[in-house]
Amino acid sequence: MNLYFLEFRDPLFGIIIFFIIIFVITALSYWFNKLKKREDYKHLDNFLKQFHEVPSQNELEVLVSKGCLSEKSWLLLANSFTKSGNYEKSIEIYSQLLKVADKTNYRDTLFLLGKTFYMAGFLERAKQTFLEILKNNPRTPQALSYLLLVYEQMKNYTAALDVLEPLSELKKDISVEEAYLNALIILNDVKISSEDKAQKLLEIYKKTNQMTHMIFEYLFRVNPKIAWENLDISKSALIVDILWQCDKKDLNFDIIMQNSFLKELYSAKKYIKEANGSFVFELDLLINLNPNTKATLGFEYVCDNCNQTYPFAFHRCSNCHAIEKMRVELLIVKDYHRDFSEESNSFL
Ligand SMILES: [Zn+2]
Repeated sequence: MNLYFLEFRDPLFGIIIFFIIIFVITALSYWFNKLKKREDYKHLDNFLKQFHEVPSQNELEVLVSKGCLSEKSWLLLANSFTKSGNYEKSIEIYSQLLKVADKTNYRDTLFLLGKTFYMAGFLERAKQTFLEILKNNPRTPQALSYLLLVYEQMKNYTAALDVLEPLSELKKDISVEEAYLNALIILNDVKISSEDKAQKLLEIYKKTNQMTHMIFEYLFRVNPKIAWENLDISKSALIVDILWQCDKKDLNFDIIMQNSFLKELYSAKKYIKEANGSFVFELDLLINLNPNTKATLGFEYVCDNCNQTYPFAFHRCSNCHAIEKMRVELLIVKDYHRDFSEESNSFL
């Protein structure tokens, strides 16, 4: 026992204890910091995770009703969902906002909901939403314009025409819309013969001088003779794609020889040799190209209103909804048809 107390009082023993205490404190501090860092990462991960996951409908209900965000923030969030194509989530947000939000913005939110229904393809629900707006506020041009688009998508062109009346009362120019819808009614009427359709479409064209591409696309398809007789050749560039694809047997060379653009177009097609060049680059290239070269004219279609480009002809731009704003752009492309013809002939 005495020996033990003697050793305990030894200065060396004190130094050893001192270093043990320092070691324990350092080890504890190291582990504590490591644990804290891990917790911090976990918290950060959880924090970031909530931005990748879309809240469920129930969560949204709670969040909107609690007023965690301002109404403007919810509208911005719904708009960003719409832009990214997540229509379902933006519809949920608008629907929740309509239940709890300030009644002063009720009509605007309802309009945004209807617009999202339309974009998502829920046409019946979009129709009901715009009709609800118009029931209380009949002089809302935005709702009328979208209701017209909905009826057009539903192929209810007569109902779409009815919407034009209140729009014209609001001093909106409806002449193009009217010509377009009337042309659609004729084109989709199964009871009218193709000859009668051609005559009725011509009446619209002569009366309004609009819907040139839409009407002449049909005329050149069913009755090229009438099409040539009624074509205003100063508008040839508007329907250059239709003229290019017209069969050689359907061409009216008396008319073609009167117009320099048409002479250049059909010289480029190698149907005639009446032009040595053209101010239009693509036509000039094809006119002076070796006839054996496998190149031809291609087309792309640009909306003059919003500059959206399409690979096919359109009458109403699906991006900005403008009518009669299509511009045909020429392209030089590989002639796949000639490739195919040559391959077919090689089997003969
Ligand atoms: Zn457009």
